[in-house]
Amino acid sequence: MLHISDRLKHFDSSQFQEVFRRQQQLKDPIDLSIGIPEELTPDHIKAAGIRAIQNDHTTYTPANGLPELREAICKKLAERNNIHVKASQVSVVPGLTTGLLLLYLAILDPGDEIIVMDPSYPPYEALATAIGAEAMTVLTLPTFHPDVAAIEASITNRTRAIILNTPNNPTGTVYTKEDLVAIARIAERHGIWLISDEIYEHFVYEGEHFSIGSLYPNTITMNGFSKGYAMTGWRLGYIAGPQEVIDAVNQLQQYTVFSSSSIAQHAAIEAMNQPVTSDYKKYQAKRELVVERLTAMGLNVHGAQGAYYVFFQAPFSMTDLEFVDKAVERNVILVPGRAFSSRHGYVRLSYGASMEQLRKGLDILEELIKELGASQQ
Ligand code: PLP
Repeated sequence: MLHISDRLKHFDSSQFQEVFRRQQQLKDPIDLSIGIPEELTPDHIKAAGIRAIQNDHTTYTPANGLPELREAICKKLAERNNIHVKASQVSVVPGLTTGLLLLYLAILDPGDEIIVMDPSYPPYEALATAIGAEAMTVLTLPTFHPDVAAIEASITNRTRAIILNTPNNPTGTVYTKEDLVAIARIAERHGIWLISDEIYEHFVYEGEHFSIGSLYPNTITMNGFSKGYAMTGWRLGYIAGPQEVIDAVNQLQQYTVFSSSSIAQHAAIEAMNQPVTSDYKKYQAKRELVVERLTAMGLNVHGAQGAYYVFFQAPFSMTDLEFVDKAVERNVILVPGRAFSSRHGYVRLSYGASMEQLRKGLDILEELIKELGASQQ
């Protein structure tokens, strides 16, 4: 066997592959595992993409993105997030996740440390470790809100950044402004970056989304078009922050992606001219139903103020895999929490699915929990 990099051992996608494998085996499963919004890309955005092709906007763009798109992003950041940056301080990337890899390459050297919450979006830890940095995890269990004191206690002289995600995947938690300000003060005291992944900013049902980049100038704000505009497959995101870090990301872009898709960028300019795609009320109704039903089943629901996820503890001291297997036997797909966490007792349910699917899935879970309860007695 010829060599495959050891780096790959940091990419444990086995839990998601397993979910995918099970999906394939089931006929018409009720899929409460998906991390995508139920809507499809709206027609006016698709039309802009088609026009871009017809008008031959099919060549490379500047590495950091089309100026018109970066201007639109600046306007949005100023108006909605109170973040004031110049267009040169924005870099358009082919999806937030690829952007994160470029950002890590720009700010982390081997041996450096980054503070990551546990649970969290898997690439935060995996990409850092893969490039030779160390992810120092701080548990947010059981409330899923960040433990500010624990964050400060895990800072060493190798710490370069703290990465935060609010509204959060997988817990749905919306961090409070007080916590974010407290974490920013810590970052300032220790001279480190704050990375803020705000991809779910449009999905908030309780509390308010607060962009810490509005207060702490060494924040690198990351966002994208996947969730708010139902554009997951177009692969487009952006990074905004201090000029030196954006310059570094742009330099890396010149040697890696060259430029994000010209077609997707034209579609995104159109997207930004209109309100976001997701129907907030619909998600709010789904969220209320899920929280109410799971609570009635005797599960403790924390977080779930935003995004479209609930991260709940498997009942009767079962492990995540045991519970997910039982659900799969009844045709419902969930994600085992260990995909996001070092702890193995939690399960992620996504209400990105339609209301109809959700109701069916919740009925089945209710039955399952009743049966499990009966068998315990
Ligand atoms: N950030 C978080 C927290 C996510 O949950 C996801 C997708 O599930 C992404 C980023 C993906 O963003 P993109 O599609 O722009 O790579």
